[in-house]
Amino acid sequence: MKGPVGILIDTTRCIGCESCVAACKQANGLGPDRRWRGQEAATGLSATRFSTVLRLPHERFVLQQCRHCVEPACVSACLVGAMRKTPEGPVVYDPDRCMGCRYCLVACPFGIPRYQWSAAEPKVRKCTMCYARLQEGKLPACVEACPEHATIFGPRERLLAEAHRRIADQPGRYLPRVFGEHDVGGTSVLYVSDASLDFLSWRGGPDPQPLPALTWASLKRVPPMFLVVGGLMGGIRWVIGRRMRVAAEEGAAAPPPAGGAEQGGEGGRPHD
Ligand code: SF4
Ligand code: SF4
Ligand code: SF4
Repeated sequence: MKGPVGILIDTTRCIGCESCVAACKQANGLGPDRRWRGQEAATGLSATRFSTVLRLPHERFVLQQCRHCVEPACVSACLVGAMRKTPEGPVVYDPDRCMGCRYCLVACPFGIPRYQWSAAEPKVRKCTMCYARLQEGKLPACVEACPEHATIFGPRERLLAEAHRRIADQPGRYLPRVFGEHDVGGTSVLYVSDASLDFLSWRGGPDPQPLPALTWASLKRVPPMFLVVGGLMGGIRWVIGRRMRVAAEEGAAAPPPAGGAEQGGEGGRPHD
């Protein structure tokens, strides 16, 4: 995989079949959608749905997923480095580092990350651009599954050139703009469309401002107490969890007790 890579989504080719969503669920081992009280359908992004297809008026469909920002606000907001921008482009997440503060949820200008609210040990969940599949030389599952080739994968620069070529070749079919080329400092998931997609961002308009600045702009919207308490609770849970892990590792590495041949066998070596 040569980076930085990305995905180009052409909404004018999308028929709303949701094969991409089904493939994403299967590739990521996600369970069935859960309907929350008061909801008619569980079709929004959730801890068990990393991508979804938004249905707009006039039979328009928009695949929504993490944009894998060039300068991700979620990464700059994460105090313990659980969110990481890879050199290849995907923004990935390490659940073992996460302390559950949920700053990334607040910081994301596209409202993408979700939290496992009902889990005993909740984690943040989002699209990783199928990073593990990419490292095996495979396509992202959603791209592979699309019967209309509404999504294509490749180096970001090549996708940008392809997007501009389509717009120049068919100016009546597309708005004269590649969504994600400059928005919030640029994103690795790009769109060409015949309708504005600015509504996907909480700022509701084109905004080339680099994301670290947006991170703090968005965090400032949240009552300070929420962030402080959330951070403290998350920090305490993270420290306790880390101590337990270290204790477990030290226990596993400790020499067997004297006369403990039944535990370690001859010479203290474990049985195969
Ligand atoms: S869209 Fe949100 S979650 Fe995805 S990389 Fe950008 S800031 Fe992070
Ligand atoms: S790139 Fe992978 S994880 Fe992301 S939406 Fe597509 S299938 Fe899901
Ligand atoms: S699989 Fe392709 S055509 Fe079907 S909803 Fe997804 S992006 Fe649209």
